[in-house]
Amino acid sequence: MSIATKSLIETENRLGAHNYKPLDVVLARGEGVWVWDVEGKRYLDCLSAYSAVNQGHCHPKILATMTEQAKKLTLTSRAFRNDQLALFYEEIAALTGSHKVLPMNSGAEAVESAIKAVRKWGYEVKGVPENQAEIIVCSENFHGRTLGIVGFSTDPSARGGFGPFAPGFKIVPFGDAAAFEAAITPNTVAFLVEPIQGEAGVIIPTQGYFTKVRELCTRHGVTLILDEIQTGLGRTGKLLAEEHEGIEADVTLIGKALSGGFYPVSAVLSNSDVLGVLKPGQHGSTFGGNPLACAIARTAMKVLVEDGMIENSAKQGAYFKERIENIRSNSVREVRGRGLMLAVELHPEAGGARRYCEALRERGILVKDTHVDTIRIAPPLVVTEDQIDWATEQFEQVLTALEP
Ligand SMILES: *Cc1c(COP(=O)(O)O)cnc(C)c1O
Repeated sequence: MSIATKSLIETENRLGAHNYKPLDVVLARGEGVWVWDVEGKRYLDCLSAYSAVNQGHCHPKILATMTEQAKKLTLTSRAFRNDQLALFYEEIAALTGSHKVLPMNSGAEAVESAIKAVRKWGYEVKGVPENQAEIIVCSENFHGRTLGIVGFSTDPSARGGFGPFAPGFKIVPFGDAAAFEAAITPNTVAFLVEPIQGEAGVIIPTQGYFTKVRELCTRHGVTLILDEIQTGLGRTGKLLAEEHEGIEADVTLIGKALSGGFYPVSAVLSNSDVLGVLKPGQHGSTFGGNPLACAIARTAMKVLVEDGMIENSAKQGAYFKERIENIRSNSVREVRGRGLMLAVELHPEAGGARRYCEALRERGILVKDTHVDTIRIAPPLVVTEDQIDWATEQFEQVLTALEP
């Protein structure tokens, strides 16, 4: 490690809150699937900022839009209108088939906004008695870091020490439709769930779970909110992960790759009358729907489609999964995933995923461990077969060299 690298890490550690434990690699530049550290060493990014850079680092078309728009107009607040918002609405509605759009910034804000809207919908439309609205969520969920959200997390490190929390949430096991059905009451306004649990380690529910969930939501007048902040925008090989299940959510949350990693942009997409309950002054955000964000998101969505990234995700995802499945190593317990949202779960005896991530870093691959034994693999959706072949060699070397 160079003195420059060491010094930057020491300064971070001295001045920053220690709420992250990053790998000791200090990145300075990115292009497509590649990133370079301050020493000029190149890495294949297999995390994509938790799927926020699906379009690849510093995509030239998104960059051009950003610089162009930044010279013209960046922020008006919603006290006035701007010439990008209507076009953003039009294009996101056409892309996703939604009828109503609420633009926000971070993913957590989109989740919080949906919770607010759906509660209000419960009182005004469904007729739930005041302050009795219930929302069902899943164990091992990840929906963000705000107080409202961590209050219904089941991860002790996400919620420990942060209480007291807001009431009104019920937790059921992910993938268990019977448990979901049993939790529904006349006061249930929504079911908030990830199509594939990303932070939990890329957990895919069994076939038919979401069909049953969709049926139950419709039958009981429960709004189905799919958090597609990580799974959406091509990550799983479809525009939205719900397409794999053949269902449609009532409310869809997207964020992360909505800006291709340039800027925090998120949105609540609604197919029912849920967003209709929000009246002037009842919800807002200074930066939500600003012209810079809208312009960036418009191009980020456009390149996703025009550059064939969603199809590439399906094709290269299947190829990458097969290549990794063919690695013979006593470390590997299971390989799972959909599209380019992949995970390698190691055996408990393998010694933890972190040391595999460190070894892969040495070989020029950046991946992140999750839940002790799982390595998540999610390169930008522009990854090529040659790059996957090279990455597979590095995985093979590391998985066999460190096997128990
Ligand atoms: C990342 C993520 C969020 C939170 O997004 P932020 O932009 O970090 O607030 C919410 N839900 C899911 C599924 C995510 O992956």
